[in-house]
Amino acid sequence: MISKELVVKTKEVNELIIGAGLTGLIYGITLLEKKKNVAIVEGHIYPGGYATSFVRNKRKYRFDCSQHKITGLGKNANLRDVFERIDLWDKLDFKYFDELFSIHVKGQYYHIPGNIKGIKIYLNEQFPEEKESLDHFFHDINTIGYQNYMFVRMLLGEYQLNRNLLPETRQLQNLTVKQYFQSYFQNEHLIEVLSAISMYLGTHANEANAVYFLHYLYAAFCTKPGYVLGTAQSLSNFLLKEFKERGGYVSLKDTVHQIELNEEGEITQVNSRKHHFVTKTVTATCSPHNVMKMLPEFSEKEAFESKLQNLKFGWGHFCVYIITDLDPEELGFTKEEYILVSDKGDILTPEEKESDERYDKLSLSVTNYHKMDPECGRTIQLIVLDYKSDWFELEEQAYLSKKERIQERIIRRAYQYFPKLEGHILYKESSTPKTNKKYTNSPEGSAFGYKISPNDNMRFLSKSPVRGLKFVGTWASGAGYESAMCQGFMHAKLS
Ligand SMILES: Cc1cc2nc3c(=O)[nH]c(=O)nc-3n(C[C@H](O)[C@H](O)[C@H](O)COP(=O)(O)OP(=O)(O)OC[C@H]3O[C@@H](n4cnc5c(N)ncnc54)[C@H](O)[C@@H]3O)c2cc1C
Repeated sequence: MISKELVVKTKEVNELIIGAGLTGLIYGITLLEKKKNVAIVEGHIYPGGYATSFVRNKRKYRFDCSQHKITGLGKNANLRDVFERIDLWDKLDFKYFDELFSIHVKGQYYHIPGNIKGIKIYLNEQFPEEKESLDHFFHDINTIGYQNYMFVRMLLGEYQLNRNLLPETRQLQNLTVKQYFQSYFQNEHLIEVLSAISMYLGTHANEANAVYFLHYLYAAFCTKPGYVLGTAQSLSNFLLKEFKERGGYVSLKDTVHQIELNEEGEITQVNSRKHHFVTKTVTATCSPHNVMKMLPEFSEKEAFESKLQNLKFGWGHFCVYIITDLDPEELGFTKEEYILVSDKGDILTPEEKESDERYDKLSLSVTNYHKMDPECGRTIQLIVLDYKSDWFELEEQAYLSKKERIQERIIRRAYQYFPKLEGHILYKESSTPKTNKKYTNSPEGSAFGYKISPNDNMRFLSKSPVRGLKFVGTWASGAGYESAMCQGFMHAKLS
Protein backbone atom coordinates (compact mmCIF):
# COMPACT_ATOMS: atom_id res chain seq x y z
CA MET A 1 0.00 0.00 0.00
CA ILE A 2 1.30 3.49 -0.81
CA SER A 3 1.24 5.73 2.24
CA LYS A 4 -0.13 9.22 1.63
CA GLU A 5 2.43 11.86 2.57
CA LEU A 6 1.03 15.04 4.03
CA VAL A 7 1.81 17.95 1.72
CA VAL A 8 2.58 21.05 3.80
CA LYS A 9 1.09 24.14 2.12
CA THR A 10 2.65 27.59 2.27
CA LYS A 11 0.09 30.34 2.74
CA GLU A 12 0.49 34.07 3.32
CA VAL A 13 -2.03 35.56 5.76
CA ASN A 14 -2.50 38.91 7.48
CA GLU A 15 -3.23 37.25 10.79
CA LEU A 16 -3.19 33.74 12.15
CA ILE A 17 -5.46 32.66 15.01
CA ILE A 18 -4.48 29.58 17.02
CA GLY A 19 -7.62 27.72 18.14
CA ALA A 20 -11.22 27.54 16.85
CA GLY A 21 -12.80 27.63 20.30
CA LEU A 22 -15.46 30.27 20.97
CA THR A 23 -12.77 32.92 21.52
CA GLY A 24 -11.00 32.23 18.22
CA LEU A 25 -14.23 32.01 16.22
CA ILE A 26 -15.69 35.32 17.43
CA TYR A 27 -12.28 36.99 17.24
CA GLY A 28 -11.97 35.80 13.63
CA ILE A 29 -15.50 36.84 12.60
CA THR A 30 -15.03 40.32 14.11
CA LEU A 31 -11.55 40.75 12.63
CA LEU A 32 -12.83 40.03 9.13
CA GLU A 33 -14.69 43.36 9.29
CA LYS A 34 -11.33 45.12 9.04
CA LYS A 35 -8.81 42.63 7.65
CA LYS A 36 -8.76 40.18 4.75
CA ASN A 37 -6.76 36.97 4.67
CA VAL A 38 -7.39 35.78 8.22
CA ALA A 39 -6.81 32.11 9.08
CA ILE A 40 -7.72 29.92 12.04
CA VAL A 41 -5.79 26.74 12.80
CA GLU A 42 -7.48 24.18 15.05
CA GLY A 43 -5.94 20.98 16.38
CA HIS A 44 -9.21 19.07 16.73
CA ILE A 45 -11.28 17.70 13.86
CA TYR A 46 -14.29 19.84 14.98
CA PRO A 47 -14.47 23.54 15.90
CA GLY A 48 -15.49 24.66 19.40
CA GLY A 49 -12.72 23.69 21.85
CA TYR A 50 -14.64 22.98 25.06
CA ALA A 51 -17.85 24.01 23.25
CA THR A 52 -18.12 20.73 21.36
CA SER A 53 -20.14 17.53 21.65
CA PHE A 54 -19.90 13.88 20.67
CA VAL A 55 -22.47 11.33 19.55
CA ARG A 56 -23.09 7.67 20.36
CA ASN A 57 -25.25 4.88 18.96
CA LYS A 58 -25.56 6.10 15.34
CA ARG A 59 -26.10 9.72 16.41
CA LYS A 60 -29.12 8.78 18.57
CA TYR A 61 -27.46 10.25 21.67
CA ARG A 62 -25.53 13.50 21.83
CA PHE A 63 -23.31 14.49 24.78
CA ASP A 64 -22.41 18.15 25.32
CA CYS A 65 -18.83 18.65 26.50
CA SER A 66 -19.50 21.85 28.44
CA GLN A 67 -22.73 23.75 27.87
CA HIS A 68 -24.71 24.39 31.04
CA LYS A 69 -25.45 28.13 31.04
CA ILE A 70 -24.62 30.81 28.47
CA THR A 71 -24.80 34.14 30.28
CA GLY A 72 -25.26 37.58 28.73
CA LEU A 73 -28.31 37.03 26.53
CA GLY A 74 -30.64 39.67 28.02
CA LYS A 75 -31.21 43.16 26.62
CA ASN A 76 -28.11 45.33 27.20
CA ALA A 77 -26.04 42.30 28.24
CA ASN A 78 -22.55 42.06 26.78
CA LEU A 79 -22.80 38.85 24.77
CA ARG A 80 -26.08 39.84 23.15
CA ASP A 81 -24.51 43.20 22.29
CA VAL A 82 -21.59 41.37 20.61
CA PHE A 83 -23.94 39.12 18.63
CA GLU A 84 -25.98 42.14 17.50
CA ARG A 85 -22.90 44.09 16.43
CA ILE A 86 -21.56 41.30 14.25
CA ASP A 87 -25.00 40.49 12.79
CA LEU A 88 -25.45 37.11 14.42
CA TRP A 89 -28.22 37.73 16.97
CA ASP A 90 -31.12 37.31 14.53
CA LYS A 91 -29.68 34.05 13.24
CA LEU A 92 -29.37 32.45 16.69
CA ASP A 93 -32.13 30.88 18.75
CA PHE A 94 -31.62 30.56 22.51
CA LYS A 95 -33.80 28.81 25.09
CA TYR A 96 -34.04 30.15 28.63
CA PHE A 97 -34.25 28.74 32.14
CA ASP A 98 -36.97 29.29 34.76
CA GLU A 99 -34.54 28.04 37.36
CA LEU A 100 -30.73 28.36 37.43
CA PHE A 101 -29.92 25.37 39.61
CA SER A 102 -31.20 23.20 42.46
CA ILE A 103 -28.54 23.10 45.14
CA HIS A 104 -28.59 20.33 47.74
CA VAL A 105 -27.02 21.30 51.06
CA LYS A 106 -27.23 19.27 54.28
CA GLY A 107 -30.39 17.36 53.43
CA GLN A 108 -32.30 20.19 51.76
CA TYR A 109 -32.77 21.41 48.18
CA TYR A 110 -32.64 25.11 47.36
CA HIS A 111 -34.14 26.05 44.00
CA ILE A 112 -32.48 29.21 42.66
CA PRO A 113 -34.77 31.08 40.21
CA GLY A 114 -33.57 32.23 36.78
CA ASN A 115 -33.63 36.01 37.36
CA ILE A 116 -32.42 38.49 39.96
CA LYS A 117 -35.90 39.54 41.12
CA GLY A 118 -36.88 35.93 41.82
CA ILE A 119 -33.53 35.17 43.48
CA LYS A 120 -33.90 38.11 45.90
CA ILE A 121 -37.41 37.06 46.90
CA TYR A 122 -36.44 33.40 47.23
CA LEU A 123 -33.31 33.91 49.36
CA ASN A 124 -35.09 36.40 51.62
CA GLU A 125 -37.92 33.89 52.14
CA GLN A 126 -35.49 31.06 52.90
CA PHE A 127 -33.16 33.10 55.13
CA PRO A 128 -35.26 35.96 56.60
CA GLU A 129 -32.78 36.54 59.45
CA GLU A 130 -30.09 37.41 56.83
CA LYS A 131 -32.12 40.15 55.11
CA GLU A 132 -29.70 42.99 55.85
CA SER A 133 -26.64 40.99 54.75
CA LEU A 134 -28.45 39.81 51.64
CA ASP A 135 -29.17 43.46 50.77
CA HIS A 136 -25.42 44.19 51.04
CA PHE A 137 -24.60 41.14 48.96
CA PHE A 138 -26.99 42.12 46.16
CA HIS A 139 -25.62 45.65 46.31
CA ASP A 140 -22.08 44.22 45.79
CA ILE A 141 -23.30 42.22 42.79
CA ASN A 142 -24.86 45.32 41.25
CA THR A 143 -21.84 47.54 41.87
CA ILE A 144 -18.53 45.64 42.09
CA GLY A 145 -19.84 42.62 40.16
CA TYR A 146 -21.37 44.84 37.47
CA GLN A 147 -18.24 46.98 37.11
CA ASN A 148 -16.07 43.91 36.58
CA TYR A 149 -18.59 42.43 34.17
CA MET A 150 -18.32 45.70 32.21
CA PHE A 151 -14.52 45.47 31.98
CA VAL A 152 -14.57 44.54 28.27
CA ARG A 153 -16.86 47.50 27.55
CA MET A 154 -14.53 49.76 29.50
CA LEU A 155 -11.61 48.71 27.31
CA LEU A 156 -13.76 49.54 24.30
CA GLY A 157 -14.36 53.02 25.77
CA GLU A 158 -18.06 52.29 26.30
CA TYR A 159 -18.20 52.17 30.10
CA GLN A 160 -16.78 54.71 32.47
CA LEU A 161 -14.97 53.31 35.49
CA ASN A 162 -16.58 54.21 38.83
CA ARG A 163 -13.46 54.99 40.85
CA ASN A 164 -15.44 55.11 44.11
CA LEU A 165 -15.73 51.34 43.94
CA LEU A 166 -11.99 50.73 43.68
CA PRO A 167 -10.99 50.73 47.38
CA GLU A 168 -13.62 48.12 48.26
CA THR A 169 -12.86 46.13 45.10
CA ARG A 170 -9.17 45.99 46.09
CA GLN A 171 -10.10 44.73 49.55
CA LEU A 172 -12.28 41.99 48.11
CA GLN A 173 -9.51 40.97 45.70
CA ASN A 174 -7.70 39.63 48.78
CA LEU A 175 -10.57 37.39 49.85
CA THR A 176 -11.72 33.98 48.73
CA VAL A 177 -15.41 33.53 47.96
CA LYS A 178 -15.81 31.56 51.18
CA GLN A 179 -14.16 34.28 53.28
CA TYR A 180 -16.34 36.87 51.58
CA PHE A 181 -19.57 35.00 52.42
CA GLN A 182 -18.40 34.25 55.95
CA SER A 183 -17.81 37.97 56.48
CA TYR A 184 -21.49 38.66 55.64
CA PHE A 185 -23.60 35.70 56.64
CA GLN A 186 -24.13 33.63 59.79
CA ASN A 187 -26.32 30.92 58.30
CA GLU A 188 -24.14 27.95 57.23
CA HIS A 189 -26.71 26.73 54.71
CA LEU A 190 -26.81 30.10 52.96
CA ILE A 191 -22.99 30.21 52.83
CA GLU A 192 -22.86 26.71 51.31
CA VAL A 193 -25.68 27.38 48.82
CA LEU A 194 -24.00 30.49 47.43
CA SER A 195 -20.50 28.98 47.62
CA ALA A 196 -21.59 25.98 45.55
CA ILE A 197 -22.19 28.24 42.54
CA SER A 198 -18.40 28.70 42.18
CA MET A 199 -18.40 25.32 40.48
CA TYR A 200 -19.85 27.10 37.45
CA LEU A 201 -16.67 29.14 37.26
CA GLY A 202 -14.70 25.91 37.37
CA THR A 203 -13.45 26.47 40.88
CA HIS A 204 -14.26 26.06 44.57
CA ALA A 205 -15.26 28.78 47.00
CA ASN A 206 -12.29 28.28 49.31
CA GLU A 207 -9.84 29.28 46.56
CA ALA A 208 -11.71 31.53 44.10
CA ASN A 209 -11.21 35.28 44.08
CA ALA A 210 -14.30 37.07 45.48
CA VAL A 211 -14.34 39.88 42.88
CA TYR A 212 -14.07 37.44 39.99
CA PHE A 213 -16.98 35.51 41.50
CA LEU A 214 -19.13 38.65 41.94
CA HIS A 215 -18.66 39.39 38.26
CA TYR A 216 -19.90 35.89 37.44
CA LEU A 217 -22.87 36.27 39.79
CA TYR A 218 -23.83 39.49 38.02
CA ALA A 219 -23.68 37.61 34.70
CA ALA A 220 -25.60 34.55 36.00
CA PHE A 221 -28.26 36.41 38.00
CA CYS A 222 -28.82 39.60 35.98
CA THR A 223 -28.12 38.98 32.26
CA LYS A 224 -30.59 36.23 31.31
CA PRO A 225 -28.67 32.97 30.87
CA GLY A 226 -29.83 30.52 28.23
CA TYR A 227 -28.60 27.69 26.05
CA VAL A 228 -28.64 26.53 22.44
CA LEU A 229 -30.45 23.44 21.21
CA GLY A 230 -28.39 20.69 19.57
CA THR A 231 -25.58 21.16 22.15
CA ALA A 232 -22.79 23.76 22.10
CA GLN A 233 -21.47 22.10 18.94
CA SER A 234 -24.33 23.63 16.96
CA LEU A 235 -23.20 27.10 18.10
CA SER A 236 -19.55 26.36 17.25
CA ASN A 237 -20.47 24.90 13.84
CA PHE A 238 -22.63 27.94 13.12
CA LEU A 239 -19.80 30.35 14.05
CA LEU A 240 -17.32 28.42 11.89
CA LYS A 241 -19.73 28.57 8.93
CA GLU A 242 -20.13 32.35 9.42
CA PHE A 243 -16.36 32.80 9.60
CA LYS A 244 -15.90 30.90 6.36
CA GLU A 245 -18.77 32.63 4.56
CA ARG A 246 -17.30 36.01 5.51
CA GLY A 247 -14.02 35.06 3.82
CA GLY A 248 -12.01 33.41 6.61
CA TYR A 249 -9.74 30.39 6.04
CA VAL A 250 -9.87 27.44 8.46
CA SER A 251 -7.61 24.46 8.84
CA LEU A 252 -8.94 21.75 11.18
CA LYS A 253 -6.95 18.81 12.57
CA ASP A 254 -3.90 20.99 12.15
CA THR A 255 -1.83 21.78 15.23
CA VAL A 256 0.52 24.79 15.39
CA HIS A 257 3.93 23.78 16.74
CA GLN A 258 6.35 26.56 15.86
CA ILE A 259 6.49 30.36 15.60
CA GLU A 260 9.59 31.70 13.84
CA LEU A 261 11.11 35.11 14.62
CA ASN A 262 13.63 37.21 12.68
CA GLU A 263 16.65 38.91 14.27
CA GLU A 264 14.53 41.91 15.23
CA GLY A 265 12.26 39.59 17.20
CA GLU A 266 9.36 39.93 14.73
CA ILE A 267 7.18 37.00 13.70
CA THR A 268 7.95 35.78 10.19
CA GLN A 269 6.30 32.38 9.92
CA VAL A 270 4.08 29.96 11.84
CA ASN A 271 4.38 26.25 11.22
CA SER A 272 1.59 23.76 11.73
CA ARG A 273 1.11 20.13 10.76
CA LYS A 274 -0.40 21.11 7.42
CA HIS A 275 0.87 24.66 6.77
CA HIS A 276 3.69 27.17 6.73
CA PHE A 277 1.83 30.42 7.37
CA VAL A 278 3.78 33.49 6.34
CA THR A 279 2.51 36.20 8.69
CA LYS A 280 3.56 38.93 11.12
CA THR A 281 0.58 38.66 13.45
CA VAL A 282 -0.59 35.80 15.66
CA THR A 283 -3.46 35.64 18.13
CA ALA A 284 -3.21 32.68 20.47
CA THR A 285 -6.32 31.43 22.23
CA CYS A 286 -4.44 28.41 23.59
CA SER A 287 -2.33 28.30 26.72
CA PRO A 288 0.55 30.84 26.89
CA HIS A 289 2.65 28.04 28.43
CA ASN A 290 2.28 26.15 25.14
CA VAL A 291 2.95 29.25 23.03
CA MET A 292 6.28 29.76 24.83
CA LYS A 293 7.29 26.24 23.72
CA MET A 294 6.56 27.21 20.08
CA LEU A 295 8.93 30.18 20.21
CA PRO A 296 12.73 30.20 19.81
CA GLU A 297 14.97 31.80 22.45
CA PHE A 298 14.73 35.62 22.57
CA SER A 299 15.86 38.21 25.07
CA GLU A 300 12.66 38.61 27.15
CA LYS A 301 11.62 34.97 27.07
CA GLU A 302 13.10 33.91 30.39
CA ALA A 303 11.58 36.85 32.30
CA PHE A 304 8.14 36.16 30.82
CA GLU A 305 8.37 32.44 31.55
CA SER A 306 9.28 33.07 35.14
CA LYS A 307 6.08 35.16 35.52
CA LEU A 308 4.12 32.31 33.93
CA GLN A 309 5.57 29.93 36.52
CA ASN A 310 3.70 31.86 39.23
CA LEU A 311 0.34 30.99 37.67
CA LYS A 312 -1.40 27.74 38.57
CA PHE A 313 -3.36 25.65 36.11
CA GLY A 314 -7.09 25.59 36.83
CA TRP A 315 -9.18 22.53 37.57
CA GLY A 316 -9.94 19.90 34.98
CA HIS A 317 -12.92 17.63 35.52
CA PHE A 318 -14.06 14.04 35.67
CA CYS A 319 -17.33 13.57 33.78
CA VAL A 320 -19.60 10.51 33.68
CA TYR A 321 -21.80 10.39 30.56
CA ILE A 322 -24.95 8.31 31.04
CA ILE A 323 -27.78 7.09 28.81
CA THR A 324 -30.89 5.88 30.64
CA ASP A 325 -33.61 3.50 29.46
CA LEU A 326 -36.43 5.75 30.73
CA ASP A 327 -36.82 9.50 30.48
CA PRO A 328 -34.61 10.96 33.25
CA GLU A 329 -37.68 12.87 34.52
CA GLU A 330 -39.31 9.51 35.39
CA LEU A 331 -36.17 8.58 37.35
CA GLY A 332 -36.41 11.63 39.60
CA PHE A 333 -34.39 14.15 37.55
CA THR A 334 -37.19 16.70 37.44
CA LYS A 335 -34.85 19.71 37.03
CA GLU A 336 -32.19 20.56 34.44
CA GLU A 337 -29.35 21.21 36.81
CA TYR A 338 -28.34 20.11 40.30
CA ILE A 339 -25.32 20.89 42.46
CA LEU A 340 -24.97 18.36 45.27
CA VAL A 341 -22.77 19.66 48.07
CA SER A 342 -21.26 17.23 50.58
CA ASP A 343 -21.42 18.07 54.26
CA LYS A 344 -17.73 18.99 54.07
CA GLY A 345 -18.55 21.82 51.65
CA ASP A 346 -15.54 21.41 49.30
CA ILE A 347 -12.94 21.92 52.03
CA LEU A 348 -10.72 18.85 51.96
CA THR A 349 -7.64 17.79 53.88
CA PRO A 350 -4.56 17.26 51.64
CA GLU A 351 -5.01 13.46 52.12
CA GLU A 352 -8.66 13.63 51.00
CA LYS A 353 -7.69 15.75 48.00
CA GLU A 354 -5.09 13.22 46.92
CA SER A 355 -7.22 10.10 47.46
CA ASP A 356 -10.39 8.81 45.74
CA GLU A 357 -12.36 10.39 48.60
CA ARG A 358 -12.37 13.68 46.72
CA TYR A 359 -14.95 12.22 44.32
CA ASP A 360 -17.34 11.81 47.28
CA LYS A 361 -16.61 15.13 48.89
CA LEU A 362 -16.18 17.77 46.21
CA SER A 363 -19.46 19.14 44.85
CA LEU A 364 -21.15 16.97 42.24
CA SER A 365 -22.93 18.64 39.35
CA VAL A 366 -25.75 16.66 37.75
CA THR A 367 -27.22 17.82 34.45
CA ASN A 368 -30.33 16.42 32.83
CA TYR A 369 -29.63 17.27 29.18
CA HIS A 370 -32.78 15.45 28.14
CA LYS A 371 -34.85 18.13 29.87
CA MET A 372 -32.82 20.89 28.21
CA ASP A 373 -33.11 19.32 24.78
CA PRO A 374 -34.97 16.00 24.33
CA GLU A 375 -33.35 15.65 20.88
CA CYS A 376 -30.07 14.80 22.69
CA GLY A 377 -31.69 11.57 23.88
CA ARG A 378 -32.02 10.33 27.47
CA THR A 379 -28.68 11.70 28.59
CA ILE A 380 -27.43 12.74 32.02
CA GLN A 381 -23.97 13.95 32.99
CA LEU A 382 -22.26 13.84 36.38
CA ILE A 383 -19.25 16.11 36.95
CA VAL A 384 -16.71 16.52 39.74
CA LEU A 385 -13.87 19.01 39.30
CA ASP A 386 -10.57 17.15 39.16
CA TYR A 387 -6.87 17.81 38.60
CA LYS A 388 -3.98 16.11 36.85
CA SER A 389 -3.21 13.88 39.87
CA ASP A 390 -1.67 10.66 38.47
CA TRP A 391 -3.97 10.56 35.41
CA PHE A 392 -1.10 11.40 33.06
CA GLU A 393 1.40 8.93 34.52
CA LEU A 394 -0.65 5.73 34.62
CA GLU A 395 -0.05 2.96 32.08
CA GLU A 396 -3.03 2.35 29.80
CA GLN A 397 -4.54 -0.58 31.77
CA ALA A 398 -4.10 1.13 35.14
CA TYR A 399 -5.58 4.33 33.67
CA LEU A 400 -8.65 2.47 32.37
CA SER A 401 -9.25 0.64 35.64
CA LYS A 402 -8.90 3.83 37.66
CA LYS A 403 -11.34 5.54 35.29
CA GLU A 404 -13.86 2.74 35.77
CA ARG A 405 -13.39 2.73 39.56
CA ILE A 406 -14.02 6.50 39.81
CA GLN A 407 -16.95 6.29 37.39
CA GLU A 408 -18.66 3.66 39.59
CA ARG A 409 -17.93 5.68 42.72
CA ILE A 410 -19.56 8.79 41.29
CA ILE A 411 -22.56 6.82 40.02
CA ARG A 412 -23.02 5.28 43.49
CA ARG A 413 -22.93 8.80 44.91
CA ALA A 414 -25.65 9.86 42.45
CA TYR A 415 -27.85 6.91 43.56
CA GLN A 416 -28.01 8.43 47.05
CA TYR A 417 -29.87 11.42 45.60
CA PHE A 418 -31.62 9.69 42.70
CA PRO A 419 -32.30 6.10 43.90
CA LYS A 420 -34.58 5.35 40.92
CA LEU A 421 -31.56 5.67 38.58
CA GLU A 422 -30.23 2.31 39.80
CA GLY A 423 -30.96 -0.40 37.22
CA HIS A 424 -31.82 2.12 34.48
CA ILE A 425 -28.39 2.92 33.06
CA LEU A 426 -28.19 1.65 29.49
CA TYR A 427 -24.73 3.02 28.71
CA LYS A 428 -21.97 4.90 30.54
CA GLU A 429 -18.51 6.27 29.80
CA SER A 430 -16.22 8.85 31.34
CA SER A 431 -13.67 11.53 30.63
CA THR A 432 -10.72 12.65 32.78
CA PRO A 433 -8.28 15.59 32.79
CA LYS A 434 -6.21 13.50 30.37
CA THR A 435 -9.15 13.50 27.94
CA ASN A 436 -9.27 17.31 28.21
CA LYS A 437 -5.63 17.53 27.20
CA LYS A 438 -6.15 15.13 24.31
CA TYR A 439 -8.93 17.21 22.76
CA THR A 440 -7.98 20.80 23.65
CA ASN A 441 -4.21 20.61 24.20
CA SER A 442 -4.59 22.28 27.60
CA PRO A 443 -1.69 21.74 30.01
CA GLU A 444 -2.51 19.34 32.87
CA GLY A 445 -6.01 18.98 31.38
CA SER A 446 -7.14 22.30 32.82
CA ALA A 447 -10.68 23.01 31.67
CA PHE A 448 -10.78 26.61 32.90
CA GLY A 449 -7.41 28.17 32.01
CA TYR A 450 -5.37 29.45 34.94
CA LYS A 451 -6.68 29.61 38.51
CA ILE A 452 -7.97 33.04 39.48
CA SER A 453 -7.30 33.10 43.22
CA PRO A 454 -6.98 36.07 45.60
CA ASN A 455 -4.10 38.36 44.66
CA ASP A 456 -3.26 36.40 41.53
CA ASN A 457 -1.89 38.66 38.87
CA MET A 458 -2.61 37.65 35.30
CA ARG A 459 -2.50 41.21 33.98
CA PHE A 460 0.96 40.72 32.46
CA LEU A 461 -0.68 38.39 29.90
CA SER A 462 -2.30 41.40 28.23
CA LYS A 463 1.13 42.28 26.83
CA SER A 464 2.99 39.43 25.18
CA PRO A 465 6.79 39.53 25.01
CA VAL A 466 6.75 39.24 21.18
CA ARG A 467 5.65 42.00 18.81
CA GLY A 468 2.64 40.88 16.77
CA LEU A 469 1.62 38.15 19.23
CA LYS A 470 -1.27 38.39 21.66
CA PHE A 471 -3.04 36.08 24.08
CA VAL A 472 -6.84 36.22 24.05
CA GLY A 473 -9.61 34.21 25.72
CA THR A 474 -9.96 31.87 28.67
CA TRP A 475 -6.22 31.53 29.20
CA ALA A 476 -5.73 35.30 29.34
CA SER A 477 -8.85 36.43 31.22
CA GLY A 478 -10.84 33.56 32.74
CA ALA A 479 -13.36 30.94 31.66
CA GLY A 480 -16.91 31.09 30.32
CA TYR A 481 -18.76 31.23 27.01
CA GLU A 482 -19.71 34.88 27.43
CA SER A 483 -16.26 35.91 28.57
CA ALA A 484 -14.55 33.99 25.73
CA MET A 485 -16.74 35.51 23.02
CA CYS A 486 -16.72 39.06 24.45
CA GLN A 487 -12.94 38.95 24.84
CA GLY A 488 -12.65 37.72 21.25
CA PHE A 489 -14.85 40.58 20.02
CA MET A 490 -13.13 43.28 22.08
CA HIS A 491 -9.60 42.28 21.10
CA ALA A 492 -10.50 42.12 17.40
CA LYS A 493 -12.14 45.56 17.61
CA LEU A 494 -9.04 47.00 19.29
CA SER A 495 -6.50 45.31 17.03
C1 LIG B 1 -17.31 20.76 31.91
C2 LIG B 1 -17.32 22.21 31.55
C3 LIG B 1 -18.49 22.91 31.70
C4 LIG B 1 -18.52 24.25 31.37
N1 LIG B 1 -19.70 24.91 31.49
C5 LIG B 1 -19.78 26.19 31.12
C6 LIG B 1 -21.03 26.86 31.19
O1 LIG B 1 -22.06 26.30 31.52
N2 LIG B 1 -21.07 28.17 30.86
C7 LIG B 1 -19.96 28.84 30.46
O2 LIG B 1 -20.07 30.04 30.18
N3 LIG B 1 -18.75 28.23 30.38
C8 LIG B 1 -18.64 26.93 30.70
N4 LIG B 1 -17.45 26.28 30.61
C9 LIG B 1 -16.25 27.04 30.19
C10 LIG B 1 -16.22 27.25 28.69
O3 LIG B 1 -16.54 26.05 28.04
C11 LIG B 1 -14.82 27.71 28.24
O4 LIG B 1 -14.34 28.74 29.07
C12 LIG B 1 -14.83 28.21 26.81
O5 LIG B 1 -15.52 27.33 25.95
C13 LIG B 1 -13.38 28.38 26.38
O6 LIG B 1 -13.30 28.88 25.08
P1 LIG B 1 -11.88 29.28 24.47
O7 LIG B 1 -12.08 29.47 23.02
O8 LIG B 1 -11.30 30.43 25.22
O9 LIG B 1 -10.90 28.05 24.76
P2 LIG B 1 -10.97 26.53 24.24
O10 LIG B 1 -12.36 26.06 24.18
O11 LIG B 1 -10.01 25.77 25.08
O12 LIG B 1 -10.43 26.63 22.76
C14 LIG B 1 -9.05 26.66 22.45
C15 LIG B 1 -8.87 25.90 21.16
O13 LIG B 1 -7.50 25.97 20.77
C16 LIG B 1 -7.14 24.73 20.20
N5 LIG B 1 -5.68 24.60 20.27
C17 LIG B 1 -4.91 24.56 21.38
N6 LIG B 1 -3.62 24.49 21.05
C18 LIG B 1 -3.56 24.48 19.70
C19 LIG B 1 -2.49 24.41 18.75
N7 LIG B 1 -1.22 24.35 19.14
N8 LIG B 1 -2.81 24.41 17.43
C20 LIG B 1 -4.10 24.46 17.01
N9 LIG B 1 -5.13 24.53 17.87
C21 LIG B 1 -4.87 24.54 19.19
C22 LIG B 1 -7.87 23.70 21.04
O14 LIG B 1 -8.01 22.47 20.36
C23 LIG B 1 -9.19 24.42 21.28
O15 LIG B 1 -10.15 24.09 20.29
C24 LIG B 1 -17.36 24.92 30.90
C25 LIG B 1 -16.18 24.20 30.73
C26 LIG B 1 -16.16 22.85 31.03
C27 LIG B 1 -14.92 22.09 30.82
